[in-house]
Amino acid sequence: MTHLTPGRRGLATLAAGVILAGALLGAAPATAQSQPTPALAYEMHDAHFHLTNYIQEGTDIREFLKIMGNRVGRSTLFGIPLQQMWAYENTGDFAPTYYLQTDAPLYYYSFTDAWIAMAYKSLSPAEQARFDPMITGFNPADMYAADHIRRVLKTFPGVFSGIGEFTIHKEFVSSKIAGETASLMNPALDRVLDFAGQVGLVVILHNDVDMPFPKAGQDPYLVPQLRDLLKRHPKTTVIWAHVGVGRVVQPVKDHLGMIGRAAAAPELSHVYFDISWDQVAKYVISSPEATQATADLINRYPDRFLFGTDEVAPTDQAKYLKCYDLYAPLFAKLTPAAREKLLKGNYERLFDKARRDVRAWEQANLK
Ligand SMILES: [Zn+2]
Repeated sequence: MTHLTPGRRGLATLAAGVILAGALLGAAPATAQSQPTPALAYEMHDAHFHLTNYIQEGTDIREFLKIMGNRVGRSTLFGIPLQQMWAYENTGDFAPTYYLQTDAPLYYYSFTDAWIAMAYKSLSPAEQARFDPMITGFNPADMYAADHIRRVLKTFPGVFSGIGEFTIHKEFVSSKIAGETASLMNPALDRVLDFAGQVGLVVILHNDVDMPFPKAGQDPYLVPQLRDLLKRHPKTTVIWAHVGVGRVVQPVKDHLGMIGRAAAAPELSHVYFDISWDQVAKYVISSPEATQATADLINRYPDRFLFGTDEVAPTDQAKYLKCYDLYAPLFAKLTPAAREKLLKGNYERLFDKARRDVRAWEQANLK
């Protein structure tokens, strides 16, 4: 058991010692490089995770490794690109930590990318192999946003696998951001997605499927805007975060049917769906029928869905895995193959490819 070096060849060895593997990987030799961690020992990977919160504070990365423990194998790693201002004239001595606690604006906090990169670089190679850091600190309404992403890759080569979670339309958040309002039709966003496609960066995009509290019969105009955007970027791997629903934003009419049609459309074969966030689980487990219909969809398109927690700066494993626990009724209705892909296989396929592609692009373009 002394040679648990991460890598595909180690799988047979690992199968014999799956229970210990998680604990031992942390102590693997420094020669491990950034090979993907074998996943046999773990229950899941986390395709949607925020290490820090809206005031750029969060969990120490070593503490987070302990929280992942031997249950979560790999995780995406990002902060939140937006900083909630503490505006004294607005809340006085009350220091807001969340966007719903004050009317003061949010602004783009680009230093988050350096913070995430430095946290990742503080780890051993074997520990690093468990993370896929993401760039988020850009304003998607700025034509220079893609240049920021390039600059981050140049400053921290060998670190990042993707961009996001970043947000275009999000309930209560988008309207609080200082400056120009982001839009799915803004060419600045096209530049970002084009660049991500060129480099091989996985994109995690948050875009609500509709506005909060729509009037009966109101045109869900964001759906065609999003579809057109995704069609314009067939070479870019995009994960649509939370399949578009939120705390208040409800599924649109025939939501699962819409996702099914997108999964079946050849021109959207580069698009994936994450079911992260307990607010999404809430809809999926709201009735046995809703759970069964969601399971049927995932069983039908098992390559297209990813599990994520969407936890922000968790303090313990129970809180961190709340979303996973909520989904137990859904997991029970999946075929073993679909469940494995949802929890681990699709993550490995997308992010292993991103690691290879982004490293190759860095080698070729950042001399
Ligand atoms: Zn999130």
